Amino acid sequence: VTVFVPRERRPGERRVAATPETVKRLVKEGMQVLVEGGAGHGCHLEDEGYRNAGARIVGGGAEDWGAADLILKVGPIAHNELVGGTEAGAVRAGAVVVGLLAPHKSADALAKLAERGASALAMELVPRISRAQKMDALSSQASIAGYKAVLLAAGSLGKYFPLLMTAAGTVQPAKVVVMGAGVAGLQAVATARRLGATVEVSDIRPAVKEQVESLGARFIDLPMPESGEGQGGYAKEVTESFLRQQQEILSAKIAAADVVITTALVPGRPAPRLVTAEMVSRMRPGAVIVDLAVEQGGNCELSVAGEDVVRSGVRIIGQENLAATLPEDASMLYARNVAEVASLVAKGGAIDLSDEIARAMLVTRGGEVRCDAGRPQDR
Ligand code: NAD
Repeated sequence: VTVFVPRERRPGERRVAATPETVKRLVKEGMQVLVEGGAGHGCHLEDEGYRNAGARIVGGGAEDWGAADLILKVGPIAHNELVGGTEAGAVRAGAVVVGLLAPHKSADALAKLAERGASALAMELVPRISRAQKMDALSSQASIAGYKAVLLAAGSLGKYFPLLMTAAGTVQPAKVVVMGAGVAGLQAVATARRLGATVEVSDIRPAVKEQVESLGARFIDLPMPESGEGQGGYAKEVTESFLRQQQEILSAKIAAADVVITTALVPGRPAPRLVTAEMVSRMRPGAVIVDLAVEQGGNCELSVAGEDVVRSGVRIIGQENLAATLPEDASMLYARNVAEVASLVAKGGAIDLSDEIARAMLVTRGGEVRCDAGRPQDR
């Protein structure tokens, strides 16, 4: 099996889908690995390291794409100047592309792949069963985003996070509110706590209350008509009237906060609107919001993907792809997730997509794009 690791094209993307460590592993398993020159440059992994691990460094043109049985990517299929168009057009029949392919936003590229008789495995759709935990890239990358969100907030805030008692007087700890206590949210809570802030957390899955409290944060109780727990431990979409009630309860907490970090998501649905413009207008000037859900439409009404918006003195940070801002650890973890998938599907010298995990991740099937791609709750 020939594996190809291209350099990512998305602006600001500094991660790479294989590291010398994972290349060594794939080579040992009998795969031939081609790495585009400079693929790891964004995370300080140079060609020499890949070569020493057993990879062949290649130019990354159409012939390299066409030679591969398995293409390992970070981001979605992109326009690539070296293949003179979409990367999907350079993939050969029977080959498989693996990556965080954003299937809900990539209809054209996936259709092109399907048309060529190639397949795609979306890392977003790794099922949450214990056998697949090592492949769970959403978790490895969300944890980084949660951590970085707190650092961005701390870097923008004109105040300390910790309680300090100094000769000149006492500094009160910053008040942080975290919305959504999934993988990103819990890492944000842990990071904010380590910096000494007081932290309050809202989630609609009552099961997370204990985890939040074990990190030294307070859980904001909501009058839940029923549990917000959906399939597989994920949240389900709540009703409009519940959302309004939740906004009322959170409004006072948000008005008093120095930092609000929002991470609330429901798989396959737009992010729930938790922070309205009116709620922002009641916050104090100097407060900071980091909206991690911005790529799914945002938890805050005012956030704009890729931008910092300042409204009545409140900074709303909508930076996308935060995991890519910590590219060394993000790549190290992501590459391991992807290598697990590669080992799963490239067994005995051939590609085999029959495993239940691979089938769950498959977004093109029999020459067609799966219509439920990107909606794990519908599977
Ligand atoms: P996610 O990124 O899908 O969502 C983030 C959080 O937002 C969730 O906790 C969700 O409940 C919350 N949310 C949704 N709507 C909300 C609202 N209106 N208000 C407040 N919060 C809201 O979550 P995730 O990081 O993927 O984690 C989801 C669950 O899956 C967690 O319990 C996590 O521990 C679990 N998980 C399991 C595995 C596994 O079994 N292998 C792997 C990773 C995560």
